[in-house]
Amino acid sequence: MANDFKDIDSMHWQFDLLGSIEIGLTVLDRDFNVLVWNQFMENNSGILPSKIKGKSVFDFFPEIDKEWFTIKTEPVFNLKSPAFIIWEQRSFLFKFDTSRPITSASDFMYQNVTVFPLTSVTGDVQQICIVVYDVTDEALNKKGIQSLNKQLKQISRVDGLTGVFNRRHWEETFALEHKRIMRNNSTGSVIMLDIDHFKKVNDTHGHPAGDHIIKTLAQVINKSVRETDVCGRYGGEEFAVLLTETSAENALVVAERIRRSCESLTPEYEGTVIRFTVSLGVAEVHKTYKDHMVWLEKADQALYKAKEGGRNKVCCF
Ligand code: GH3
Ligand code: MG
Ligand code: MG
Repeated sequence: MANDFKDIDSMHWQFDLLGSIEIGLTVLDRDFNVLVWNQFMENNSGILPSKIKGKSVFDFFPEIDKEWFTIKTEPVFNLKSPAFIIWEQRSFLFKFDTSRPITSASDFMYQNVTVFPLTSVTGDVQQICIVVYDVTDEALNKKGIQSLNKQLKQISRVDGLTGVFNRRHWEETFALEHKRIMRNNSTGSVIMLDIDHFKKVNDTHGHPAGDHIIKTLAQVINKSVRETDVCGRYGGEEFAVLLTETSAENALVVAERIRRSCESLTPEYEGTVIRFTVSLGVAEVHKTYKDHMVWLEKADQALYKAKEGGRNKVCCF
C-alpha cells in the first residue's frame, strides 16, 4: 500500500498537469480506494482530495453498483484491457450535479468513462485510472433530436382533427398487411365508411359543427374495433378500418355495430343535437387481389352499393 502511494507520488507532476484540464481523473487501487482525485473531480463532487484519498470510492458514491463495477473493471486488472462506459448505456458513473443548473435541461452530468490499466514496473496492474468526460451537451442534443424526431414521426402519421392515422400512414400499413396476408396465407377485412348527407350537416350547422361530427365518428369507430385493428381518416368524412385476421362475416358484425352506434347517437354541438348516419362497405381479402388497392376498391364498391341502397346500411362485396 505504502509502495502504491510512492509510485503514484512520483507520477504526481503528470497528474498536476492533468489537474487543470476539463476531464475527470481518478486512480483506484485493487480495493477501489482512491489514490488520485484531480481538480475536475474535486470541483464537481465538492469532495477534497485529502478527504477521499485512501478511502473506498463506494463510501463516497453509493450509487455506483459495487458488483457491476467489480465485474466491469475485472478485465482492466486481469487482462490489461481498457473498459468503456458510455452515457447511452449508463448516464453516469459519478453522480455530479450539472454545472449549468439554469441553462441545462438535465440536473446531472452525463458522462463517458474510460478505465485504463496502470501497469507497474513488475508488469502487473495494481491500479486503474478512470477518465471521466462531461458529455452532457452532446447527450442532451442527441436526446432532444431523438424526442423531436419521435414527435415529428407521430405528427406525420396522425390526422390532426380525429387523432386516428392519416390516409398516407393508413395506406402504408394497409399495404404491408396485404403483403403479410399473402405471404402467410391468412385473412383480413377492410371497412370503408362515409357519413350520409354530410354536406347538409355543414350547410345547416356550419363547418365547425361538421368537424365535431367527424371527431365523434372517429370515437365511435375506435370504441367499436379491437386494438389490433387499424383506423384511418381516408378523406373528409370518410374512414377506413383494417381488421386483421378477420373474416367478412365478423367484419360485418363490427360494421353493423358502428352503423347502429351512429344511428342511436345524439351528439350535441353548441346546444344543438346533430344526428347522423353512416354507410359502410366491407370486403375480405382474396388471393386473386394482386395488390392492396384492388382489395380497397372492393370495399369502396360495397360502400357505393350501401349508398345506392338508401344509406345507413352495411354492404359486403
Ligand atoms: P353522401 O351521403 O352521398 O355521402 O352525401 P354527402 O353529402 O356526405 O356527400 P360527400 O360524401 O361527397 O360529401 C362530403 C362533404 O364533406 C363535402 C365537404 O364539404 C365535407 N367535408 C370534407 N372534409 C371536411 C372536413 O374536414 N370538415 C367538415 N366540416 N366537412 C368536410
Ligand atoms: Mg364522402
Ligand atoms: Mg358522405
